[in-house]
Amino acid sequence: MTNLRFNAIEQAMSRVPNPVSTPDAKISDYFGQNVFDRNTMQKFLSKESFRQVKEAIESGHQIERRVAEQVATAMMAWAISKGATHYTHWFQPLTGTTAEKHDSFFELADGSKPIENFSSSALVQQEPDASSFPSGGIRNTFEARGYTAWDPTSPAFIMESQSGKTLCIPTIFVSYTGETLDYKAPLLKALHELNEAAVPVCQYFDKNVTKVNATLGIEQEYFLVDIAMFNARPDLETTGRTLFGHIPAKGQQLEDHYFGSIPPRVYAFMVDMEIESFKLGIPLKTRHNEVAPNQFECAPVFEEINLAVDHNQLLMDVMDRVARRHNFKVLLHEKPFAGINGSGKHNNWSLVTNTGVNLLSPGNSPKTNLQFLTFFVNTIKAVYDHADLLRASIASASNDHRLGANEAPPAIMSIFLGSQLSNVLDEIEKSVGKAKMTPEEKTQIKLNIGRIPEILLDNTDRNRTSPFAFTGNKFEFRAVGSSANSSNAMLVLNTIVANQLKEFTKEVDAFIAKDVKKDEAILQVLQQYIVHSKKIRFEGNGYGDEWRAEAHKRGLSNVTTTPPALDAYVSEKSKKLFHDNNIFSHRELEARHEILLETYMKKIQIESRVMGTLVLNHIVPCAVKYQTELIRNVEGLKSLGLKDEHYRIQMELIKEISEHVAIIKTKVDEMVDERKKANKIEHAREKAIAYCDKVRPHFDEIRYHVDKLELIVDDSSWPLPKYREMLSAR
Ligand code: ADP
Ligand code: MG
Repeated sequence: MTNLRFNAIEQAMSRVPNPVSTPDAKISDYFGQNVFDRNTMQKFLSKESFRQVKEAIESGHQIERRVAEQVATAMMAWAISKGATHYTHWFQPLTGTTAEKHDSFFELADGSKPIENFSSSALVQQEPDASSFPSGGIRNTFEARGYTAWDPTSPAFIMESQSGKTLCIPTIFVSYTGETLDYKAPLLKALHELNEAAVPVCQYFDKNVTKVNATLGIEQEYFLVDIAMFNARPDLETTGRTLFGHIPAKGQQLEDHYFGSIPPRVYAFMVDMEIESFKLGIPLKTRHNEVAPNQFECAPVFEEINLAVDHNQLLMDVMDRVARRHNFKVLLHEKPFAGINGSGKHNNWSLVTNTGVNLLSPGNSPKTNLQFLTFFVNTIKAVYDHADLLRASIASASNDHRLGANEAPPAIMSIFLGSQLSNVLDEIEKSVGKAKMTPEEKTQIKLNIGRIPEILLDNTDRNRTSPFAFTGNKFEFRAVGSSANSSNAMLVLNTIVANQLKEFTKEVDAFIAKDVKKDEAILQVLQQYIVHSKKIRFEGNGYGDEWRAEAHKRGLSNVTTTPPALDAYVSEKSKKLFHDNNIFSHRELEARHEILLETYMKKIQIESRVMGTLVLNHIVPCAVKYQTELIRNVEGLKSLGLKDEHYRIQMELIKEISEHVAIIKTKVDEMVDERKKANKIEHAREKAIAYCDKVRPHFDEIRYHVDKLELIVDDSSWPLPKYREMLSAR
């Protein structure tokens, strides 16, 4: 029988784990060996050039041409010594993946002499054929070309693959008229603004602070399925998720997978993936099973945010490549299997000073605690004021399945603080409204602030249902989807916090100008903020219906689908925010909005097409074939002279199959009609909404009947691997 499903099962069953790779060296011996990091650079550059590069990186200033020339020469010498033959600018276009265009170092000097060459101009700037990357009309209407430009703050690295080694240079991607066309450029701008905004605030407390950076630790959840199973599911292959499949009897109800022992084949994959990551300087730290069967997680040690994002993008790539060596396919989709936990990408975020202080870590004195409270409360206010924008930053067709699906935070933005810090804020709030605090009140507040312990009890007892939770010394943004580029969420978060800190400084300075003492000025402004943003604080169960009702009462938004969620990008408020902070012009925002809408629309369109084809070419024929067998059986029984009661069940099944098939066909036809109507719509937003509201609802209806057929139809002819077959990690 040429049933792909049975071939896949057979292949998957016969696999043996790859031998676990065991390098003889300690991790620290080979960590970063494929990275042109500072230490390596220092070895390859003159003292003076190295100093200049280092300084330029730290200050964000441009690197002089002459020095760039030396870096290029050094980079090439290093890369060639490592066996690299090609180089590429590595960038993050708005498609959500990373892009590369490989060029060889090889050249013919004077037309005949073969040499290796890599000039500073090739390092600093390139012109990829950009026409295939989304630009939201920017390039079409203004300037046809875009270029990539070197980001010296993220070190170059060598990507090893079966076909060879390539030097990858992290770059931004912009149009010739200066509009950003990627994820990295706006993140770098946001970090610049954050620094500008945060340093003056730090200086209220410590004059030694001259630089503030954001830190990020990204937890990455993913599924692994056997590659043969994956290949036998056209839906998984083209859309990243299963469009059909009955939920297995033993799914995750028992939750015995979580922290259980890692299956041997998976273990071999993880070790291999870690070795590859370590060579690339990705500091992976933890690995474990997740809640769902075949679901796993890894997390690195946190890093400076630009690097953390690059490393996560690189990690997703490494995972995919290594998985193939182990006959696995990595699923990064937020919801590959209905009814089973989805995957997220928790973004652990904090702020750190050049003096090494984590600004979101409570200290051990009233002064350090007031500084902590300042950044803590300003972040809360920023999230409250721009909750809709933050929601927009994580919106995608795939994440829509996960948010609010009783396993992941809802689409309502709220913040969890833990009881101790909630109490501290409540105490400060109580003294609000009084023009002047009594000395006793002031002392009380200072005492309360002084009492914030360094180790917070809630740190061990956290609320896992909150989209944005304070977890001891950082905020954890949990609503980010597993397949997302974290830049999107992070550029928004850092922009709103930067904007907020600027506002804060203005307000505090205004008080100080009126001769209010600095500490008191800070406290007064914080008090106002605490009252102002109280509605966003929620300590209860974020998964419950009660919270939806309560949030509604509080006036918090709960936008459950992507197209309307994206509106927040182009609201007057967001336009002003991004403009004032030099992140996006109105035009750039509108272009981005359009790209996101288009991406959404295309995803739903593809799903709808795949669904239609699968149903009509695979499922329905299979059901009808089985039905024909039943009919023959009934005819046979009749011809033997048996009575109704002897083929009653068969008759029922025959009828049931007809009913399901009829509904499926009708619904698919309706869906195709809706698609045709939607395709005629010109306007990107209306079109995306039509796909969301008119096309997408058919998915669940069609699926319901297909999944019923899966239960009725003869197992031996069912074409698609079933959930329990795909989800048996061994
Ligand atoms: P959990 O699964 O309990 O949330 P993990 O240990 O898996 O915790 O992940 C926590 C993540 O938070 C790690 O990547 C860690 O490096 C990161 N992290 C810790 N401190 C900071 C910080 N100050 N800034 C950013 N990320 C941090
Ligand atoms: Mg976490």
